[in-house]
Amino acid sequence: MVYHKKRKKFTRIFYILFIAILLIVGFKLAWHVGSSTVELMPASSARVAENYKTLPAVPNHQETFRIVIDPGHGGKDPGATGVSGAYEKAFNLSLAGRVAALLEEDPMFEPLLTRTDDQFIELEERGAIANEWNADAFISIHGNTYTDTMVSGTETLYRNQDSIPLAQAVQTHLAQGIGLRDRGVKEEQLKVLGTPRMPAVLVEVGYLTNAEDERFLLSDDGQDLAAQAIVDGLKEYFWGIRELSLEHQETGDLDEESSPDTPQSGIRSIEKKVYFNGSAKDGKQVALTFDDGPDAIVTPQILDILKENEIKATFFLLGDRAKAHPEIARRIVEEGHAIGNHSWSHPNFKELSMDEAMKQVMDTQDELNDIIGYRPSLFRPPYGALDEDMEQAIQNMDLAIVNWSVDTMDWSGVPTQEIMGIIHNQLKPGGIILQHSANGQNHLANTIEALTLLIPDLKNQGYSFVTVPDLLHLPESQT
Ligand SMILES: [Zn+2]
Repeated sequence: MVYHKKRKKFTRIFYILFIAILLIVGFKLAWHVGSSTVELMPASSARVAENYKTLPAVPNHQETFRIVIDPGHGGKDPGATGVSGAYEKAFNLSLAGRVAALLEEDPMFEPLLTRTDDQFIELEERGAIANEWNADAFISIHGNTYTDTMVSGTETLYRNQDSIPLAQAVQTHLAQGIGLRDRGVKEEQLKVLGTPRMPAVLVEVGYLTNAEDERFLLSDDGQDLAAQAIVDGLKEYFWGIRELSLEHQETGDLDEESSPDTPQSGIRSIEKKVYFNGSAKDGKQVALTFDDGPDAIVTPQILDILKENEIKATFFLLGDRAKAHPEIARRIVEEGHAIGNHSWSHPNFKELSMDEAMKQVMDTQDELNDIIGYRPSLFRPPYGALDEDMEQAIQNMDLAIVNWSVDTMDWSGVPTQEIMGIIHNQLKPGGIILQHSANGQNHLANTIEALTLLIPDLKNQGYSFVTVPDLLHLPESQT
């Protein structure tokens, strides 16, 4: 949780704007029946950053980069309160200490903490410490909070555009390293980031108000992974050590032989449970995925565009829609695309009993087998929501659980330009892009338009389009 800069005379305008934003968001939600509310950002002035390039950073000091680590809140100001009742200020201090310890070990860095105990420090003073020390970077560490306990994930905030490359490096490594939902990099006019005269970012590592995020964030293993990821982000930013991200993807997502004896194996096995992206070592590959179909209007248009461009994609289908439009499901297969199971009727699995959840999955496997002649090997839970028991049960059915690394929010009616911005900002080699082939606003006109723009755009950037089974080296069907 962070403070927003407020000036009294603007308070009234601020609230009027805030209410207006709430109304607009509420309106969008009301339109989207069965909407992906868990994918919505909390209402804020945040906006998605564009991609910025910068020259390699030069240290302010002979051989080391000076990094100020700022554990948010402290003393009389506890910050957010987590699901378990834990205070954000204690989490921030614990994680910041681990980051500082890792930097201390590394000859290329010199860390300084703004606080090492439970004391209150004014926001301006935190930046002043960094300025006085002539630091190379300032990182404020926080846990996030929101009224909707379903909201989860990692985000990194910046105030000045100079700080965007640092924010992107840290966010990329954090999202990959800890495996929580990647909420991206955003601009926020935060007071604490206003004082530092060097690149300054604020990481919201996860949501303390989300039970799963909190459990991870308060665990030793979770904090060690987060600390290492932040340090890796700093290394990439200062030295451009991109190989680190490859190692992470290999061990995190795709390494099937990670030893069960290593101390981190508990966390690694959690990471392995769900695929969010493929490996960057396979080159610039991207998988387009389309959820919630088939339907008779949008899905055929998407298929036409894919055919024109000679591109293969992956469709996560609903059992009841496949039953209603079997000829469209068959066309998807005939044209060489991959199919995954997206449940029977798109419920939130976290609100189902285990029996209900298994029925959703199995009925869809059976229906798809009847229509297309095989049982897919992929499953994507509606809203990306599953509890750990269900993850285990679904994996025991020999289904790979696949989510996404780039959420275009296309169902919500966001403008095409915004969809393109999200992709520019979040796509990395091995990425999985989420769009929809049914069930959005205006028959998903923006999805269609974005598709016609992003295909040539990504081709120009050297991306090749593959199906999810190809991206993840998985079989297309169950044997
Ligand atoms: Zn869906």
